[in-house]
Amino acid sequence: MTLFKLLNQKKNLEFLQQAVKNDKIANGYLFYGPEGSGSEGFAMEFAAMLNCTGEDERPCGHCGSCQKMKKLEHGNVTLVYPIPGVSTVQDENPVAKLSNEEIEKLNEQIREKAENPYKKIKLEKSKFIPISLVRHLKRNIYLSAPEKGWKVILVFDADMMNNESANAFLKILEEPPEKTTLLLTTSRIGKIIPTIKSRCKPLFFNKLSNDDIKNYLMGFDYTEEQIRLLVNLADGNMTSLINLMGQDIKFIKEMTLDILRTIAGWDRKRIFSMIPELAKIQKEDSELFVQILTAINFWFRDAEMLRHGVTDKELVHFDQEMTIRNFLKSYADFDAYEINQVIDNCIDFINRNVYINVALMDMFFKIKKLIGKRN
Ligand SMILES: [Zn+2]
Repeated sequence: MTLFKLLNQKKNLEFLQQAVKNDKIANGYLFYGPEGSGSEGFAMEFAAMLNCTGEDERPCGHCGSCQKMKKLEHGNVTLVYPIPGVSTVQDENPVAKLSNEEIEKLNEQIREKAENPYKKIKLEKSKFIPISLVRHLKRNIYLSAPEKGWKVILVFDADMMNNESANAFLKILEEPPEKTTLLLTTSRIGKIIPTIKSRCKPLFFNKLSNDDIKNYLMGFDYTEEQIRLLVNLADGNMTSLINLMGQDIKFIKEMTLDILRTIAGWDRKRIFSMIPELAKIQKEDSELFVQILTAINFWFRDAEMLRHGVTDKELVHFDQEMTIRNFLKSYADFDAYEINQVIDNCIDFINRNVYINVALMDMFFKIKKLIGKRN
């Protein structure tokens, strides 16, 4: 049992347990792997192990240290994450410069992270980890630890340190005080400067499997077709799954069908109401927007599979098998590959801030053409 609600990654967990058992702790660790694989959560778990005062298994879950750690309120553990652009005045703690509203949001997000380690701590407009924050850290780290045990600096999204911050951080990494370890996490290992990389023990986190995600979802009240869509949309990313679980999955499915019917039948009236509707969704919740388009992509992939005689076991929208079969009867020559490209391109364009209504209209036209003539 882990202190935080973590999935799989057993090898890494064993490795960390062994390190604690042998009391062989490195100055720095770099926990890396695709987003939503759990690198942040396991770093939290490691911090808990290091400070647990339990006798047998660590973290025990009930000692004073574990109790505090569970709420991410341990005096020895410092969390570092990107914060909104603030002054780089050397001697100020930039976190103290945040507005009351931002502090409140931050505390809320920290509580949520303790509850679900796959959630991200992410304040709006956070672009990097400022040097002032690293300097503040440096001033405090050499003070004696507030509690017995290990001082742990947990840096989430360590790739968000700019050069200045990274170089200041490197100094700490080169000579950390006794009984101190720095845990860096990232899903973009390529953006970590080599000098930091070479001073940390690397630990790679695999993308979670569809079975991991599915097993997790079994504990919730979802229908089988919803689970299958969620598993496929999440694609091994627990952070993305958590966001998806906050969405109305029924709405995603309905919208998918609505869009497909509108394009196939080329219902002009609905097209002109649908495009601003989708643009609004994109503006308010870009992730939901991408999920709807991805669900459409899966729909065409399903149609392609059925065309090749695959059974419903592998379909994402298996509950719509009859609808898909009817589509195949009417549009036998549709080009699934090109349609998928068109949808992916549309997502790309919109991410690059291309005028969304135009991009959507263009996508609708192209899909209509690629579906082909009705038999
Ligand atoms: Zn404990």
